[in-house]
Amino acid sequence: MTEIISTGFAALALAPELCHALAGLGYEEPTPIQEAAIPPLLEGNDLVGQAATGTGKTAAFALPVLHRVLTDAADQAEGEAKSPLALILTPTRELAVQVSDAMQSYAQDMGARIVPVYGGQPIGRQLGALRRGADVVVATPGRALDHINRGTLNLENLKIAVLDEADEMLDMGFAEEIEAILETTPDTRQTALFSATMPPRISGMVRRYLNDPVRVELGRKTELDPESGKRVRQCAYVVPRGYKPAALGRILDMETPQAAVVFCRTREEVDQLTETLNGRGHRAEALHGGMDQNQRDRVMGRLRAGSMNLLIATDVAARGLDIDQLTHVVNYDVPSAPESYVHRIGRVGRAGREGTALTLAEPREHRMLKAIERATGVPLAVETLPSVADLRAKRLEMTSDALRAIILKDNDLEDFDSVVQSLSEEFGMYETALAAVKLARDASGAVRDEDEIPAATLPTERDRRDRRQPGGRRGDQGPGSGPRRGRGPTAGMTRLFVGTGRSAGIRPQDLVGAIAGESHLSGRDIGHIEISGRFSLVEVPESAADEVVSALRRTSIKGRKTTIRRERFEAR
Ligand code: AMP
Repeated sequence: MTEIISTGFAALALAPELCHALAGLGYEEPTPIQEAAIPPLLEGNDLVGQAATGTGKTAAFALPVLHRVLTDAADQAEGEAKSPLALILTPTRELAVQVSDAMQSYAQDMGARIVPVYGGQPIGRQLGALRRGADVVVATPGRALDHINRGTLNLENLKIAVLDEADEMLDMGFAEEIEAILETTPDTRQTALFSATMPPRISGMVRRYLNDPVRVELGRKTELDPESGKRVRQCAYVVPRGYKPAALGRILDMETPQAAVVFCRTREEVDQLTETLNGRGHRAEALHGGMDQNQRDRVMGRLRAGSMNLLIATDVAARGLDIDQLTHVVNYDVPSAPESYVHRIGRVGRAGREGTALTLAEPREHRMLKAIERATGVPLAVETLPSVADLRAKRLEMTSDALRAIILKDNDLEDFDSVVQSLSEEFGMYETALAAVKLARDASGAVRDEDEIPAATLPTERDRRDRRQPGGRRGDQGPGSGPRRGRGPTAGMTRLFVGTGRSAGIRPQDLVGAIAGESHLSGRDIGHIEISGRFSLVEVPESAADEVVSALRRTSIKGRKTTIRRERFEAR
């Protein structure tokens, strides 16, 4: 079984330890960015990859880095053993942790030392880990430079540097830190840069730091048959990760597909989701690359016969499947490339039939949704998840339909005559009917689902643009207006006072960079930023305000310690 699964990666000439770990994680084949980026990186080329979150870009650089750790371990000179071979720079602490966790899981069979280094964590713990020796350091730029300046991070023997989400790092004002960090590394290093967008500033960075790089870009135009494109309803739901199984259950309850394929990224996800959906009363079966032909045939037979209606599958397993009665395709994750989206949804809307394609996206995957829209030329409507009230209404509607069908078709109703007679004499006909409807609804097997799923929304382009503009969203108030004095903060947000401003050269990206680098917030969580001559005001979610205040008090902004506190209206 392992063989079937690992072939995709083994063909890329990755070390067997890595292929084995990937098989264990349920990765069946490389994503397009992995297929394109891994071979040139293994050959030692510099590389520029245009890829957003959700494409599998982390493994695209992490696997060649770990392969190099494995192959270099044997011939590493004495004394080099403690200084890192690879440095991965990420814009936020959140991403540093995510990349480091992913690398740990890929390295489970090889014992590489991967050390995450980011602001907000006590520096002592990181010092200990760095002193013991690291093969790979995953760091936010501010904290990496801090360690370099303290002499606790030595990059003299560095072989590979990766700049992950380079556009975000520039947006956050980390250009100088990156420059200073790379200056301490050998010129002979291999460098890879990944970025979702390629504005001119990124091209400048590529010219400065990379040497004749291979360029890897996900295909732009993808064929979507225009006719079937029109017949297929395409929409997306934005759901926080932890709520995805419940959200999918709910969407399926509302959509009531005749037959659906739900695509997942890994075998593990397929197995877990199948279990969860069956636990909710759906009829789901798994299909993945680890199953032999007989098992697959049996599953497909049950789908065609209608004894179950949800096929939970990986792309590899679903290759070549042609199911006539398919009404829905569900992307449980945003597909790793627009091509794969088009390929998946091509399974519905065939031969003049109508179909529905639903995509669940985490908020951080918004760029992939945009890429899919651009590639297919069809807008993806972002819809609101069904609420508890919607579900109740739907269940009642289904109960009512079922009762209507019995009244119209069933010839054996007189069998129940005596029961209705006696109950209606006792309670009246209306009460009796109500009780029967309740019994019918409760017997339908649908689980109660009474917790609302919190709304998650995608940041709009405007949100992102505003955050980058000097003075934050001051543009909203017309020219010449100052900070929003006297107005309260946005609902759910708290305004923080930062005792430095324009006269010290502070720009919004300096504040976003400091907050995202030192706390668990990402740039997207930060609200209005207003910069005046000697101070600035920044909105952060109320729940994170204390954390941000103490994190910023421990650090410096643009090299200087500054006052940070919750805003006091009387002080202004
Ligand atoms: P990334 O774009 O690096 O944030 O990856 C997005 C998600 O895809 C992560 O949850 C990865 O674990 C998953 N992933 C990456 N590569 C593969 C693959 N080849 N097969 C299945 N899942 C993958």
